[in-house]
Amino acid sequence: MALETGLQSRTLLKRLKYALSEEGEGQKRLDSVTHLIADSMGTAVCSVYLLVDSSTLELCATEGLDPGSVHKTRLRIGEGLVGLVARDAKPINTDNAPSQPGFRFMPETREERYSSFLGVPIQRLGETLGVLVVQSRSARLFTDDEIYAVEVVAMVLAEMTELGAFVGGDENLKAPHQYSVLIRGGIAQDGAAVGSVLLHEPRVVVTNPFADDINKENKRLKEAIQQLKGDVDGMLNTALKGASDEHKKILEAYRMFANSKSWLKRMEDDIESGLSAEAAVEKEQSTFRTRMARVEDVYLRDRLHDLDDLSNRLLRVLTGQGRAKITDLPENPILVARNIGPGELLEYGRNLKGIVLEEGSVGSHATVIARAMAIPLIINASGITTEALNGDRILVDGDQGIVHLRPEENVDRAFGEKIAMQSKKLERYAELKNVPAITRDGVRIHLLMNAGLMTDLPSLKNSGAEGVGLFRTELQFLARNSIPKRGELAKIYNRVLSSAGDKKVVFRTLDIGSDKVLPYMRPTDEPNPAMGWRAIRLGLDKPGVMKMQLQAFIRAAIDRDVSIMFPMIAQFGEFKMARDNLMHVLAKEAELGHKLPSKVEIGAMLETPSLAFAPKQFFELTDFVSIGGNDLKQFFYAADRENERVRKRYDTLNVSFLNLIKQIVERCDETKTPLSFCGEDAGRPMEAVCLLAMGIRTLSMRPASIGAVKSLILRTDLKELREIINTALISGEQSIRPFVSDWLAKET
Ligand code: PEP
Ligand code: MG
Repeated sequence: MALETGLQSRTLLKRLKYALSEEGEGQKRLDSVTHLIADSMGTAVCSVYLLVDSSTLELCATEGLDPGSVHKTRLRIGEGLVGLVARDAKPINTDNAPSQPGFRFMPETREERYSSFLGVPIQRLGETLGVLVVQSRSARLFTDDEIYAVEVVAMVLAEMTELGAFVGGDENLKAPHQYSVLIRGGIAQDGAAVGSVLLHEPRVVVTNPFADDINKENKRLKEAIQQLKGDVDGMLNTALKGASDEHKKILEAYRMFANSKSWLKRMEDDIESGLSAEAAVEKEQSTFRTRMARVEDVYLRDRLHDLDDLSNRLLRVLTGQGRAKITDLPENPILVARNIGPGELLEYGRNLKGIVLEEGSVGSHATVIARAMAIPLIINASGITTEALNGDRILVDGDQGIVHLRPEENVDRAFGEKIAMQSKKLERYAELKNVPAITRDGVRIHLLMNAGLMTDLPSLKNSGAEGVGLFRTELQFLARNSIPKRGELAKIYNRVLSSAGDKKVVFRTLDIGSDKVLPYMRPTDEPNPAMGWRAIRLGLDKPGVMKMQLQAFIRAAIDRDVSIMFPMIAQFGEFKMARDNLMHVLAKEAELGHKLPSKVEIGAMLETPSLAFAPKQFFELTDFVSIGGNDLKQFFYAADRENERVRKRYDTLNVSFLNLIKQIVERCDETKTPLSFCGEDAGRPMEAVCLLAMGIRTLSMRPASIGAVKSLILRTDLKELREIINTALISGEQSIRPFVSDWLAKET
């Protein structure tokens, strides 16, 4: 960078710092900022446009344009040159603005007198807050040095906007993060919650963007980079052990970025121009973020993501600001995060009242855990991590998929009433706890619960579940850094069985792979993990872990009945092999003189359509079949359960899927094989009664759903519903849902 540029922007920043430190309202500050930028740069005009809502820019201060147009001139994003700068998050530099494509004539500003135009985005971490414009009468292009100087100033303005420096003096200059915001997202776990925001990764706040002493800032940056490199080395040395070649390459690329000379050089240049070390990191991070939003190439995006991640680490080193601590939770914490892994979520555990994720997906393992803990969860809540501040009041409406951040009083009150009504409903459901689930036409249904955590066990008593129809065993493997020992597992499983008393418990063997990657398992970088080396495939190829787990089940169930099932069985041979493993372990235990369970039932999860078409001998050999509807639906429709875009297109109540269910029921009836359904749909009342009408008699679901499902079962005549479904199945319609919901509205 030319020495002169540094000098120019340094002088400008010094004057800016002085102007910003003066007492006064936001409007006065903005006015003096535009005045001094125009003066320092020798331009006739300097204007600041700020976003007043997500799509409108307003002229908030100007030197040179008609003062009467301030707070009157408004542009939508993409409209006029200013709107284009905001939309594309890229500067526009032209010597003839009126002839530039996209130019919009705004008579009230009288800007037609100015030929040259330079507009740069005011953005913070990739989020556009406004546009800074300089204009001059003579037809000339601004130099690279001038563009750089204006960008540095824009960066400082962004920081100051975020800190609320431009508030007051005009009613349109509102403080950020103080107004109520409504964000719509997707429902991953229903229920309502009220509480305070707990940011999983609180934003680092740069309180001083100015370098008072350039040498000192350079030294701080170098020391922070040194510490970052040490941290990254330590982290990678552990991760590289046992990593595959492909994975090693990615980790090495990450290390390379931490050592990147060009990254360091750019930040040094920023400091030279007058920014503090943390402001320099943030300026470069903002550039990556903007590029990241534009880049289509997955590899490049990932690398930019690496840089973003490294920048966050560097900012934490420089400012000492860190992550949320589990020991430091506010009252009624509602976790707000971009995304979260299952292990991290388990650490927060049931302390959380609700979760709101900017990304996330319905099928992810974090979602499964949130569901297991019945914590309301909203996903795809766009903008939540930039809007929410730690401690903000937040309402999570997991039934509508809406988040109210800093709600107005009337919304808060109405929401409180809704929660009160819900708890009344729950009280009504609780009264049904000991009532057997019998349909109006006298069919006895068995309602079991899904579990996976020790803390689920009290629900066995509270929910009225007749047993555990699916105990997911991977959570004990996911929540630690090394593979659990057989003795430890046997103890855990024994506690599950003891708390179930004489009720049935079905353990599922380890279902990992796909999104459920164990921290100590070597990632395999498969092209399509959901269809890859997972669940039983992994279990059969690595029989050591599977046998250890089978032994743990058996030792936990001495002298009592136990059921064990294998996930993702796609063909008869896999079931035979898995079953043989279990028989072998049983024989070995007997040989060693260990006591055995009184009875072991061995079943298969039907999660791939192929198993519905397996030879009859499979249905004869297996003691029971449990339909894993979440996976079965994903494979039946070829629609990834974690991909929000495709997942929502396909309904459980579609004719094709129900015809598959019909086929499974018939095959099980033929061999008298007990059949149950344990996917999420079992816990949705309308879907549940339809599955029962198709002939299924046992459902396993989240304990929190049992009351609602039972309440509908008690009001349903299955024979009548089956007739409605039979008519709908041959009606030529794609889904039976409208038929059933009409009928339910009339009949129940
Ligand atoms: C299923 O696939 O329906 C199921 C119950 O298993 P999981 O959700 O754990 O994959
Ligand atoms: Mg499954």
